[in-house]
Amino acid sequence: MSKLTSLETLLVQEIKDLYSAETQLVKALPKMAKAATDPNLKQGFIKHLEETKGHVERLDQVAKLLEVSPKGKVCKAMKGLVEEGSEATEETGEPILRDLALIIAAQKVEHYEISGYGSARTLAEWLDRDDIVALLQATLDEEGATDKKLTELSDQLCPAAQEAGANA
Ligand code: FE
Ligand code: FE
Repeated sequence: MSKLTSLETLLVQEIKDLYSAETQLVKALPKMAKAATDPNLKQGFIKHLEETKGHVERLDQVAKLLEVSPKGKVCKAMKGLVEEGSEATEETGEPILRDLALIIAAQKVEHYEISGYGSARTLAEWLDRDDIVALLQATLDEEGATDKKLTELSDQLCPAAQEAGANA
């Protein structure tokens, strides 16, 4: 916890939270990719891992602009979401249903990130920090696109998942 004395200190706190969240994801996404059976889903996780490394870099840039360290906070929410993702990787039974469980866990992560970046961007807007707004918006756009892609993938897996249920 830190002492909140200005909008800027609140923004710093949120940037640290996001930095912790993204660094946790850099470790978790390879495990999600490994557990995925569908080649498009596997590729999607690998692509988002590369993007996620870029998100960490952008937060480093934001921290530099704010003249602070991005480190020093643990995002407890992402810890929980990553734990749920890890549970999904361990599901047994129909691989396609495990893929859907991975997508559900991944979308919870994306929605959390979209919420965090949206709030941080708004704080940066209030502070008239267009340089920081641009960096946060760039990541926000990628999180949104990933969320959409995951919805498309789950729609594509749906028929085979229904069949898996019928044959069970
Ligand atoms: Fe991210
Ligand atoms: Fe993400």
